[in-house]
Amino acid sequence: MKLHLGRKAVLSLAGLMIWAIPAFAIPEQPVLNQPLVVQQVPDPECPPDGAIVRVAANGICRTDWHLWVDDWAWRGLAITPPFVLGHEFSGVVEEVGRDVHDWKRGDRVVFPMNPGEGTCEWCRSGNQHICDSGAKLVPGVSYWGAFAEFVAVRYADINLVRLPDSLSFVDSAGLACRYMAAFHGVIDHANVRGGEWVAVHGCGGMGLSAVQIAAAIGARVIAVDIQSAALAAARELGAMHIIDARTADPVEAIQTLTQGGAQVSIDALGVETTCRNSVLSLRKRGRHVQLGHTTHKEAGYVPLPIDIILLNELRLFGTFGMQGQRYGAMLAMCESGLLRPGKVVSRTISLEETSGVLAAMESYDTTGIVVIERF
Ligand SMILES: [Zn+2]
Ligand SMILES: [Zn+2]
Repeated sequence: MKLHLGRKAVLSLAGLMIWAIPAFAIPEQPVLNQPLVVQQVPDPECPPDGAIVRVAANGICRTDWHLWVDDWAWRGLAITPPFVLGHEFSGVVEEVGRDVHDWKRGDRVVFPMNPGEGTCEWCRSGNQHICDSGAKLVPGVSYWGAFAEFVAVRYADINLVRLPDSLSFVDSAGLACRYMAAFHGVIDHANVRGGEWVAVHGCGGMGLSAVQIAAAIGARVIAVDIQSAALAAARELGAMHIIDARTADPVEAIQTLTQGGAQVSIDALGVETTCRNSVLSLRKRGRHVQLGHTTHKEAGYVPLPIDIILLNELRLFGTFGMQGQRYGAMLAMCESGLLRPGKVVSRTISLEETSGVLAAMESYDTTGIVVIERF
C-alpha cells in the first residue's frame, strides 16, 4: 500500500495531521504492513460536557494493533476506515465545553483511557472506568482518537486528570493506559505487599509497568518473556529474576524459585499460554491478575485448571484501566520518585514512524512503551 502524505490547506485552529487507516475495507484475515496515511482532517468539535486536548504525546498500544489488524471483531470492536487511532495521551487543554467547570485552556492533563459518563451505577460508585456507556466514549476506539493534533474528550470534569509539573508529557503517556492499568492491578486488586513473590508473564509495556510498580513497593518480582530485550528491560526495572520461556518452563521455574509458588501472578499479555502459566505459578491462596486482553485466537476464552483454582483457593482479578480519582496515589508515587513511568518508555518517534511500530507488534518486536512525541 502506498504511503500518501497528502496535506490540505491549514484551517483555523490549524488543520490536523493524523494517521488514519487507508479507506478500504479491512480484510477478514489480519493483514499487516498496510501503511497508515498522514492527511488533513477537520478539527474535532468540542462537546458541551467535554474538552479538546492538544496532544503532546501518545503511546502506541497493542490495542491500536488489535484494531489495526481487525483482531477484535469477535468482541464487537472494529473500526471503519478511515479512522484515527490513539487512546493513551497527555497534552494541554485547548478548549472546554460550556458545561465544564474544572478545566480551562492551558491545563496540563492526562486522559484515563476508559472514561465514564458519570450517572450509571458504576460511575456513581466511583468506578467510572467500567461505566455502562464506556465503550462509546473512548477516543481512538469508539471515535477518532489521538494520533492527531487535537482530540475530543467527553465528560471532561470526571475524566481528565491534572498532570503535576514535574512529569513530562512523554513520561506521562503510559499513565493513560498501560501503566495505570498495571498500577490498578498490582495495588488495588492484588494488593501486593512488600516481600511477596510477584510473577509477571509477558513483559510488553504493561508487563514492564507491573514489574516496576511491584518492585517499587518491595515485592520480589519474577519476569517471564520470550524476548531478550524485554527481559533485560525487566531486570533494569527491578525484576529480581528473569525467565526466558523459550528455554525454561516458567511454571516449574517459578515454583522452584519461590518454593511453592508466587503469591501474585499477572498475565500481562492475554494469550492462552501466559494466562494458564500465570494461574499455575501461584501458591495456595494466590492471586491471579488478568491485565492482557485475549486475541482473536482465544476469542475471550482460555481453558483454566479449575480444580487447582478450587483446591488451592486461588483468586482471580480482572483489571481494566483505572478510574481517574485513583490517579492521586499513583501520581504521588511518581512525584516522590518511587515510580518512574518514563523508564518504561523505550523511545519517542514521529508520526511518520508509527506504521513501522504497529507492524513490529505482530512479532512482539517492540520493547516497552513507544511514544509519538508532538511537542
Ligand atoms: Zn493502550
Ligand atoms: Zn457510567
